[in-house]
Amino acid sequence: MARWPPVSSVRNPSLKLQGLTPYDPKYLPADSYMSANENPQDVSEELRRKIESAIRAVPLNRYPDPLATELREMIADANGLERDQVLIGNGGDELLFNTALAWGGVGRTFLNMPPTFSVYEANARLTDTDILSIPRIKERDFAIDEEAVLEAVSGPDSQVDFTIIASPNNPTGLRAPQGFLLELLDATDALVMVDEAYFEFSRETMRPYLDSHENLIILRTFSKAFSLAGVRLGYLLGSPDVIRQYLKVRQPYSVDAVSQAIGRVVFANRAGFEPGIDAIISERDRLFKELQGINGVKPYPSHANWVLFSVPEAEAVWQSLYDQGVLVRDLSGTPGLEGMLRVTVGLPEQNDSFLHALKAALEGVREDGR
Ligand code: PMP
Repeated sequence: MARWPPVSSVRNPSLKLQGLTPYDPKYLPADSYMSANENPQDVSEELRRKIESAIRAVPLNRYPDPLATELREMIADANGLERDQVLIGNGGDELLFNTALAWGGVGRTFLNMPPTFSVYEANARLTDTDILSIPRIKERDFAIDEEAVLEAVSGPDSQVDFTIIASPNNPTGLRAPQGFLLELLDATDALVMVDEAYFEFSRETMRPYLDSHENLIILRTFSKAFSLAGVRLGYLLGSPDVIRQYLKVRQPYSVDAVSQAIGRVVFANRAGFEPGIDAIISERDRLFKELQGINGVKPYPSHANWVLFSVPEAEAVWQSLYDQGVLVRDLSGTPGLEGMLRVTVGLPEQNDSFLHALKAALEGVREDGR
C-alpha cells in the first residue's frame, strides 16, 4: 500500500559526511589540459592497434579474473618480486581507499604531511581514522619536517598506525629523501606507504628496500607515465602479509577485464614511453626556468610532471588562463598553498601557450590593480 502523504524526504546520511565536500577535480573543457598531471601524449597508434586486438579477445559475459593474475605476474617479474607481493587496483585511488579501510578505522591514527594529495585525508576521515598532521616546511620548498615526523612515530607511546608519503609529493613537487624514508621505516612498525605515482619522472624508487622492510608498501599507477588515466589501473608492491590484508577489504571485481587486457599490452610495451618521459622531464625543467624569469612568479622545484608556482591574484590569473584556453589547477584555496597554481607539463607547444597566456594574465591583473 502506498503511503499517504508520500514521504518525499530522505534520511540524513552518516554524520561523518557533514563537513566533507566531494572531490572535485574541476573537469572542464579546454584547449590545453594542464591540470590533472596526465601524460600529454595518448598511447601511440601502433600501441592502440595492439590494445584493440587484445580487447577483442576479452569475453565480456564473464567476470574478470579477480586478482588480474597475468598482469600481476608481469609486474612482479619486472620488479623481481613474487606474485603475492603485488596487487592491482582500480587506479591508485582504490588502493589508497583500501589502505584506510585496512589500516585505519576507529581508534586508529594516520600520519599526514600536508600539503599533499588530498585524497589521503579524505579517506582517513571517511573511515573515522584519527589524523595527525605534520605540515611540510614551506620555506624549504615544502620539504618534510623530518625531525617532527621521526619523533611522532618513535617510542612506545606513538599512536601512528600508518602514513602515506607521496614521492614526489603532489602538489608540491619534491621527492622524499631516501635516507629519511629508511630512518622512518626503521623507527616504526607502522605501515609506511610510499606513493610513487610519479616515480617515473623522479627516477627514484624505494623498491630496493622492500626485501628488508616489511612495513614498506609502494603505490604506483598507469595513469601518469603510461598515459592510461582513462583506464584506471594502479598497483601495490609490498610484503605478502601486507598484501594479504588488502585482499580482505578489496572489492572482488574492481579491475575489469578490459582494463586488465589494456594493462597487459601497455606494461609489455612500457619501454616505448621512455622518450616521452624524457621529454616531459626536460620540458619540466624548462618551464621551471621560464617561470623563474617572470616577475612576481615563484615556481617550486619539482621532480614530477608539473610545476607549482605562486602568483599575485591567483584566482584571477587562473580564470584568465582558462579564458585563454589553458586549464591549470587552482590550489589557492588549500591551506598552506594560498596564492598558488599548479601547471602539468604539456607538449612543448602547450607549454609555450601556457607561458604566453600567463604573461598576458599577469599584465591584465596588474592593469586592473592600477
Ligand atoms: N597518488 C597521487 C599522489 C596522485 O596524484 C594520484 C592521481 N591524482 C594518485 C595517487 C591516484 O592516481 P590514479 O587513481 O589515477 O591511479
